[in-house]
Amino acid sequence: MSADRALQVCLLGGTGSIGDSTLDVIARHPERFCLRAISGYRNLEKLAAICARFKPARVAVAHPEDVAVLANDLKTRAGPPMPEILSGAVALEQLAAEPSVDLVMAAIVGGAGLSSCLAAAREGKVIALANKEALVMSGALMINACQEHGAQLLPVDSEHNAVLQCLPARALAVRSPGCGRIGNDPALGIRCVTLTASGGPFRTWSREAMRSASIEQAVAHPRWKMGRKISVDSATLMNKGLELIEAHWLFGLHPEQLRVLVHPQSIVHALVQYDDGSVLAELGHPDMRSPIAHALAWACEPATRLHTPVASLDLAVLGRLDFEAPDEIRFPALRLARQAMEAGGNAACVLNAANEVAVDAFLHQRCGFLQIEACVEEVLQQHADPAPPRELAAVLESDRRSREAAASFLRRGRALH
Ligand code: NAD
Ligand code: MG
Repeated sequence: MSADRALQVCLLGGTGSIGDSTLDVIARHPERFCLRAISGYRNLEKLAAICARFKPARVAVAHPEDVAVLANDLKTRAGPPMPEILSGAVALEQLAAEPSVDLVMAAIVGGAGLSSCLAAAREGKVIALANKEALVMSGALMINACQEHGAQLLPVDSEHNAVLQCLPARALAVRSPGCGRIGNDPALGIRCVTLTASGGPFRTWSREAMRSASIEQAVAHPRWKMGRKISVDSATLMNKGLELIEAHWLFGLHPEQLRVLVHPQSIVHALVQYDDGSVLAELGHPDMRSPIAHALAWACEPATRLHTPVASLDLAVLGRLDFEAPDEIRFPALRLARQAMEAGGNAACVLNAANEVAVDAFLHQRCGFLQIEACVEEVLQQHADPAPPRELAAVLESDRRSREAAASFLRRGRALH
């Protein structure tokens, strides 16, 4: 990427938590990054405030009727130049695929981000990937599209970004991240990769206590401030399960090379153990601006750094770091995700779809906390198929059928109570 020209960024899901952190990093480095395009779904007020400040050329909203609302708001708020405002799901793909865009920050939550992410891959963009569900659903399809079209997948998820930082420069000089072959290259000698998990708000809770967990309790993450869906995933540990699958695809790691370690302080984000017994880990305060800044700097020039206001780490002040094995009896979502990763085929897509439906139901008081994993287990049993989906249409069909099955499972559950 040229150093004398600001990197043109398309921020998809710009009104969320990752969106906030990304805009914070971009605003601190205006000479390096320019917000070319942004999507914000239905959060029009926040989108208008961002547009007034960053002046992107193009904006995407969810519905056609929102276009005029946003345009009017912007006229009174900011005046010219006005951005081009597009609407609908296809607008996300148009924004991502635009020739002048260098980097797509994929920060939409859930399967809604898949098509735009794939569109960016097919246009050979640099993709800063926060939207783990897109990769979990599509797996080899996404990796192959990146390889075929020369796209790069830079992990923004803190654990995966940490793994990237712990890999030998030699590995990355010849292969771009997301190429899917790093883990099984014997010359690199990667024995295993450990992703840490804070353990979530219910780390010490009994199953009985979790049964009546409220929405507020489930989204009250002890370390990270995040969107509601990923917060619930962190409470069930499904987030870590999705992250195992994400790491499997990003780095080409065999399921047996992947471990999870509970680490309540969230200071160590991941560890890479090598064949000679050495372990490299990445540490830092839990603040998404660090991995985002790392990915954005990497997109300009690998192995460079950007300044962020994240505080320096003082281990003497912290005093101790704690670690414990994950409890897959109390947190079966982790076991289910591992099963889906090992099963291959469409299983990860099914797991993700059922989880999205069940988490949404929980967040709308249509099911209890423990029904999330029960729903995922049932739908996985019914719909997992060992044949891997060969095209986007097949992924979307598995996704649709699993969502239907999950909704039906939850309806039956409500009828019984
Ligand atoms: P969030 O809920 O705060 O934001 C989600 C964004 O997606 C918003 O801009 C929202 O408007 C948009 N969106 C929601 N539904 C949409 C739809 N149907 N179509 C188009 N846009 C839609 O979520 P977040 O915490 O920022 O997480 C975003 C992604 O990043 C998730 O995949 C999450 O797993 C991942 N992630 C987040 C964090 C974090 O710290 N927040 C860390 C690692 C990974
Ligand atoms: Mg993470």
